Amino acid sequence: MRAPAAQPPRRSWLCPTDADKRRMNEALEGTRAAHIGGAALTTLALLACAPWLGWMPVLGALVAVAQTLITARLFGRTSFAAHLHVLSFALMLGVILNGAVASGGPTSPVLPMAALPMLLLSGRFRRTVAVSGLAVAIVAVVATMLVLFPQRTLDHPEMLAVTVFLLAASVAIAISFTDVEDRLRERVHTDTLTGLLNRLGLDARFSRVADDARAAGAPVSLIVVDIDHFKKVNDDHGHDVGDLVLATVAGILTTRLRDVDMVFRLGGEEFAVLLPGVGGRNAAAVAERLRAAVAEKPIDGIDVTVSAGIATAIADPDGWRGIYRRADAALLAAKRAGRNRCVSFEAITLPFGRHGVR
Ligand code: GH3
Ligand code: MG
Ligand code: MG
Repeated sequence: MRAPAAQPPRRSWLCPTDADKRRMNEALEGTRAAHIGGAALTTLALLACAPWLGWMPVLGALVAVAQTLITARLFGRTSFAAHLHVLSFALMLGVILNGAVASGGPTSPVLPMAALPMLLLSGRFRRTVAVSGLAVAIVAVVATMLVLFPQRTLDHPEMLAVTVFLLAASVAIAISFTDVEDRLRERVHTDTLTGLLNRLGLDARFSRVADDARAAGAPVSLIVVDIDHFKKVNDDHGHDVGDLVLATVAGILTTRLRDVDMVFRLGGEEFAVLLPGVGGRNAAAVAERLRAAVAEKPIDGIDVTVSAGIATAIADPDGWRGIYRRADAALLAAKRAGRNRCVSFEAITLPFGRHGVR
């Protein structure tokens, strides 16, 4: 039997941006083994302490392991992955609190284990979610002990105090690691010379654009822009001038587009312009405007021109490579037809299409 197709997670308060969604999914993939291993180790530790703490904490740990395994299987198949995640951490907290209640209440050594789900939660979600989760956990832990063991809690508040401190410290440390990770991820997606997003950035952004286009039944266009005879610029004027030309062309492309359009440096002197919601005819007009803007005036005294290939799709489910291949074929036609021109993929594939005509 085939597994159900993976659903794109919904955007919610938990994961409002693509970066949030990506962090959650990558953390889930990257820490699954450690997560399950940690749960198994915790169970063993509680098992070893059963003669003193009783069997309830062990039972709780087994429930936590089982629900971790079950929810891990469900994550990829639901569009509510973020909610499932949070529910899973809340259940884990409940199970730990139950174990603590059954093994001494405010003096139970099980109590500080409440830091574990907090650590996982704040490593996967944005700061606001982590801090809100922390507040909920502190209130839950303190209220449970005060309601069920009022006198004992007041007489022996030390373990509860340590637990609250540990919860806060775990969340603070996890948030700082998440911040570093987010900054690194952003850097990996950015080209240092032009400041544009790179190929990895396109990988990451395209899925969002494709999801939206699919939902709205809207088109997506991609323009591949390549500087003409760029090797000659390097050969005649040096690599530094070549770099300046690249950065200037990147700036021209970026400033001539709407806010929702995105420009990427795919490599070398090749750029991609992603136009969400734009059909073929309008995309051709945008490409022509960009071509004219580059050719308009010399860069550092050098006449620079670009050629462009345009392709359009109603959200390509295979990702951006399908639409890119078509735009690249059109770019090749533009180069063959003499450069400094734009060619749409439709123009080179239509019957009797005027191959390579601008
Ligand atoms: P065409 O019109 O057919 O596109 O010819 P072209 O010369 O632009 O293309 P070709 O692929 O022959 O040369 C691309 C050059 O771009 C070769 C490479 O040295 C240069 N290049 C790639 N990355 C950089 C960079 O980061 N800085 C500089 N200065 N040059 C680069
Ligand atoms: Mg070139
Ligand atoms: Mg090239």
